Amino acid sequence: MTRVVVVGAGFAGFNAARTLHRRLRGSTEVVLVNPTDYFLYVPLLPEVMAGILDPRRIAVPLASTLPEVRLAVGSVHTIDHPAHTVTFRDATGRDQQLDYDHLLLTIGSVNKLLPIPGVNEYAHGFRNLAEAVFLRDHLVRQVELADGTGDEDERTAYLTFVVVGAGYTGTEVAAQGVLATRAAVREHPRLRGRMARWLLLDTADRVLPGLRERMSKTAARTLAERGVEVMTGTSVKEATADGVLLSDGSMVPTRSLIWCVGVRPDPLVETLGLPTDRGRLIVDPDLSVPGMPGMWACGDAAAVPDLTEPGQITAMTAQHAQRQGKTAGRNIAAALGRGRARPYKHHNLGFVVDLGGYDGAADPLGVPLSGFPAKVVTRGYHLSVMPGNRARTAVEWTEHALLGSELQGLDLVLPAKVPLDTRPPS
Ligand SMILES: Cc1cc2nc3c(=O)[nH]c(=O)nc-3n(C[C@H](O)[C@H](O)[C@H](O)COP(=O)(O)OP(=O)(O)OC[C@H]3O[C@@H](n4cnc5c(N)ncnc54)[C@H](O)[C@@H]3O)c2cc1C
Repeated sequence: MTRVVVVGAGFAGFNAARTLHRRLRGSTEVVLVNPTDYFLYVPLLPEVMAGILDPRRIAVPLASTLPEVRLAVGSVHTIDHPAHTVTFRDATGRDQQLDYDHLLLTIGSVNKLLPIPGVNEYAHGFRNLAEAVFLRDHLVRQVELADGTGDEDERTAYLTFVVVGAGYTGTEVAAQGVLATRAAVREHPRLRGRMARWLLLDTADRVLPGLRERMSKTAARTLAERGVEVMTGTSVKEATADGVLLSDGSMVPTRSLIWCVGVRPDPLVETLGLPTDRGRLIVDPDLSVPGMPGMWACGDAAAVPDLTEPGQITAMTAQHAQRQGKTAGRNIAAALGRGRARPYKHHNLGFVVDLGGYDGAADPLGVPLSGFPAKVVTRGYHLSVMPGNRARTAVEWTEHALLGSELQGLDLVLPAKVPLDTRPPS
């Protein structure tokens, strides 16, 4: 039987596998290789950090949502395209080999590191479930430590949180984080009158630099109302155990440096030795890899030409990855004789940013929204895009609106499990 192997079950891989199965049912085996047995709905990670959603809500099980697709849990480390094989390490640490007729790479991206002293050791990343759960516990622990210490300087450091990178990830983390720590502080009578201090840094001249200016203004206004100090044109010079030295020369005592500086394609791409653009594997508009018949790529890991803006490649967003996955599935099916191939072309439908509380910033179809209407659109969008767990997520949002966050630390994720490095989550 013909076999298509899809590596990575994120937005692109999940949608590709589903499309492939629908189009090739009965004639082709579709194998999905992924380090976890779930699809992670990454855009809601900040809600896990803030104690609004249980981690399981955004971990959609692959076995029940794609029952006809064969799931191989493991990480691919070797691709031998001339031999048409991939080798992955399974959960027991053993290597397994799969041969294929077509290979689709949708391995996404990893944290982007900058060569700044101390960042590797002292910053916390924010890209996977373990990091979000770790950060939730960390925030709670900082408030407890602030309560427990008699040293005023130490207390100030515990209650100071620095987020680097004011893209949608950093902006949501700061906006949700300030509300979460405020709620945690309220539970400690000895901290009455104290406020957690949140700083959001970016080298750009505005928050949400990649999005429309109106969205930036909406987000900046909400952050300012909550007391978040937005420092544009600023970065980190050095991180230490006691604080962060900023590029303007000031030292901020803190135990919490949260790294949201962006992402870069998964390092597996480099091992292929194929042409890349900004680290992303170059593909043709039909998502095939030029000169490599049978190899395809899309999502964050691929440099997909943006046919709506000639000369550009598509941004690293879930919106593109999800649609590219469907197109790749369709085009691979066409290469196997089912249907017709088409190039990837998608006009931006707008963006949504959840700012926590009753606030959001959104521009669906170019219509600027803020406050509660944006929040409703944001949540509606997430529910429509999530491939599963929708009812449970909606119930949990309702529960949170009625009963508030559940912020108790469980200490289930040890720091050693969440090093800030460029490896994919395991
Ligand atoms: C906190 C956060 C919030 C975000 N919010 C938004 C948002 O609101 N809107 C938006 O449009 N975008 C958002 N994004 C960006 C969006 O999540 C990504 O653009 C999108 O996930 C890319 O999809 P993908 O399929 O290419 O990669 P991913 O979704 O990252 O999936 C890649 C998959 O490949 C797996 N993988 C990696 N290496 C291997 C390997 N060697 N072998 C097997 N499997 C492997 C990974 O484990 C993962 O399951 C956000 C990103 C982050 C980090």
